[in-house]
Amino acid sequence: MKYYIHADMEGTAGIRAPSQVDHQSADFAAGRRLLVRELNVAVAALFEHDASAVMVCDAHGTGHNLDLADLDPRATLERPVAGCIMPSLDASFAGVLLLGHHAMAGTRDGFLEHTMSSREWFDYRIDGVAAGEIAIEAAWAGHFDVPVVVVGGDEATAAEAAALLPGVATAITKRGLGRNAACCLPLEECDRRLRAAIAAGCARPPAPWRPRLPARVELTFQRADLADACLGRPGLERIDGRTVARTVADARQLMITW
Ligand SMILES: [Zn+2]
Repeated sequence: MKYYIHADMEGTAGIRAPSQVDHQSADFAAGRRLLVRELNVAVAALFEHDASAVMVCDAHGTGHNLDLADLDPRATLERPVAGCIMPSLDASFAGVLLLGHHAMAGTRDGFLEHTMSSREWFDYRIDGVAAGEIAIEAAWAGHFDVPVVVVGGDEATAAEAAALLPGVATAITKRGLGRNAACCLPLEECDRRLRAAIAAGCARPPAPWRPRLPARVELTFQRADLADACLGRPGLERIDGRTVARTVADARQLMITW
């Protein structure tokens, strides 16, 4: 069985301050160590279960957080490229794990809540329903008939995942104390939860998630000039000063600004 880990960083066990996910901060090194540590727990647990191959996608920021030399030597590594959230994902994978994740923009007590860009995206909806990165990524995986088997992150992330993907295994690492701080569980407890979620999620994968298509997606930016910059993109409608919309027939187009 092949598994694909889409690794973000905000929800990683032990990360409790915005500076730990900021490349330009001296605290980033500590955040990075925690990220590597958690991923190696996940890779080992997947191989203990039934994995024959594990691909890790370095998805936080620009995708330059991981050094392959630090990862379990059985893992392969890639990062998103423009227009492609999970470049190597295809129907040969048994499941996707969304680790280190965060809740959608505007979620109360969601540690570092945002959707795609905290500076640019204010609100995002699929057919009128508020959605975040978990939905965008689950739909991308669902396009290839691949289920999301585990979601890891804070309590708000787990609640968002459970509402969207009934039956998905979640591994809670922390509780958001507002947006910019978190109360972290002990690392050994996080590891235990992650291993349990992997065992449960891989043994009983939920159905792949597929939004009803075609879907109407709407994005409200933080400022009108960000919507101005989208003028002329094929199929994109301007709804109001800050909002653009598009009807998509392919789940990989839910990333509306591509
Ligand atoms: Zn991130």
